[in-house]
Amino acid sequence: MLLESGRASADFVPVLMYHDIADTPVSRAFRRFVVPPTLFTEHLLALSEAGYSTTRISQVSDGPACQKRVFVTFDDGFGTVSQHGLPALAAQDMTATLFLPTAFIGGRASWLTPLGEAHRRLLGWADVRDAIDAGFEIGSHGHRHLELDVIDERQLEYELVVSREILQDETRTAVQSLAYPFGYHDTRVRSAALRAGYRTACEVGYGLHMRTWDPMRVRRLLIGPDVSGECLLKLVNGGEPTVGQRARRYTRPVWRLARRTRGAMRSPTFLRK
Ligand SMILES: [Zn+2]
Repeated sequence: MLLESGRASADFVPVLMYHDIADTPVSRAFRRFVVPPTLFTEHLLALSEAGYSTTRISQVSDGPACQKRVFVTFDDGFGTVSQHGLPALAAQDMTATLFLPTAFIGGRASWLTPLGEAHRRLLGWADVRDAIDAGFEIGSHGHRHLELDVIDERQLEYELVVSREILQDETRTAVQSLAYPFGYHDTRVRSAALRAGYRTACEVGYGLHMRTWDPMRVRRLLIGPDVSGECLLKLVNGGEPTVGQRARRYTRPVWRLARRTRGAMRSPTFLRK
């Protein structure tokens, strides 16, 4: 595999970030987070035919190098993932990791109210336990899906510790993986996550992750409904990002600066991810 730079990329690992897998109507603002089931199956077939196998995100730093591995992750725990996403993965003998905001398990995605998507149903505990029994990994997505880098120390510890404890207590499995809600983190957040017991944590990043990089800031590729199977293979092989991905990569720091300036007074917005 060669990257854009022409550098040998045996240690680069593609980590795919999905949200919902559904055919349901979706608002314009949320459209890029919903992949139709038929397209998701196309993605998996393309990966499988290209010789990729899947591994849990907690093994992202494990060797050996030169292995054709891809990591599939789902943020938020949307209910239709258990109907369309997990069966499609199982059919290809593939696995994935589900990142769940524990306060909302069994409920609705109320943090998406600004986008008109708060009606989306989330996985219940029975679904989560079924997923674990089927070989999928679960990780924390915080407790209340808050932007961790702008909340105070007490809230930060609460979000990280309580969500992990709830997941472990309810499922009787060890939880060591985290996906930062909205992708936001900094040194303080990463240190708190390590203290809370996490050993792998995912951001957004819009690029390939390297196996030897810090496992508390795993870069992922946001995969949306405009990514064909062929395009997905280009991305996991280190090809050019789409125009949209490139634009978002360079505009993100501006968003972050504006968000920090507003401080904790503003309400979280999913759009800023
Ligand atoms: Zn999320």
